Amino acid sequence: MPPIQSFLETLYQEYRDLTAGQVASYIPELAKADARKFAISVVTLDGRMFQVGDFQQEFTIQSISKVFVYGMAMEDWGRDRLLEKVGVEPTGDPFNSHIRLDETSHRPDNPMINAGAIATTSLIKGDTPTERLNRMLAMFQRYVGRDVYVDISTFLSEKATGHRNRAMAHLMLNFGMINGDIEEALDLYFQQCALLVTCQDLATMAAALANQGKHPITGQRVLQPEYVRDVLSVMYTCGMYNFAGEWAFRVGIPAKSGVSGGLIAVVPNQAGIAVFSPPLDEHGNSVRGLKVFEALSQEYGFHMFDLS
Ligand code: GLN
Repeated sequence: MPPIQSFLETLYQEYRDLTAGQVASYIPELAKADARKFAISVVTLDGRMFQVGDFQQEFTIQSISKVFVYGMAMEDWGRDRLLEKVGVEPTGDPFNSHIRLDETSHRPDNPMINAGAIATTSLIKGDTPTERLNRMLAMFQRYVGRDVYVDISTFLSEKATGHRNRAMAHLMLNFGMINGDIEEALDLYFQQCALLVTCQDLATMAAALANQGKHPITGQRVLQPEYVRDVLSVMYTCGMYNFAGEWAFRVGIPAKSGVSGGLIAVVPNQAGIAVFSPPLDEHGNSVRGLKVFEALSQEYGFHMFDLS
């Protein structure tokens, strides 16, 4: 087995010239992304970092935020009460295609699609929008290990163009599945999507999940261990849009991707891994990200059911 750093460098060389995929363009802020940017970061449980490429480049976290906000809502409400509001059933659909709720329970299917994420965000506790945002930022800060910020331009354009998300929120309001004022919930959801992170940050956040909810460098607790299992389960079954089954089969570890080209994966009790590369495939997953993770999983036997 090659030392991880040199393997990352080989992967970087192998895939840096890959030009397949399209940068997300539904808002101008994302369309501006440089398709050549490419980074891989691995953070082990004892805080060692192995990285290559543009791992300090900032970008908006987008859908990867859903994982961490779900964990926070678990802590705010407990497993049973959260399950009453948001299901855990994979849809096999793109993240925002369906404006539908479960016919009998009226819950959104799972917290990794937009409807479920908006419902989850609406549950974050706090007396005012500012308090809810500050609590959420403090949660992300604990995971990252430094101060974090929201990109205002991205937030404002998501808010101005997010009619499909608004429609989902209205449907959930109709069925009493969303807490409080929907514009406030949508604002907080768009703010969480516009959080600025680097590839290094994402790998560190994933490492905290791999480490049963304890930050690998600061040693701070970021999530109660009993909820780490829940978060990893929904990542495993629902984290990769309508590629989740294929991912589970080929790569075999809990993961989550986002439209800005980030992709994180958790190797339980071993490491957090992130790739950043903006061009996306037809499912909305980073093209280089998929290649890198397939190669890593194969090389290091990361697949959870690789028992050989
Ligand atoms: N902000 C985006 C949205 O809600 C996030 C989508 C994503 O990363 N899949 O549409």
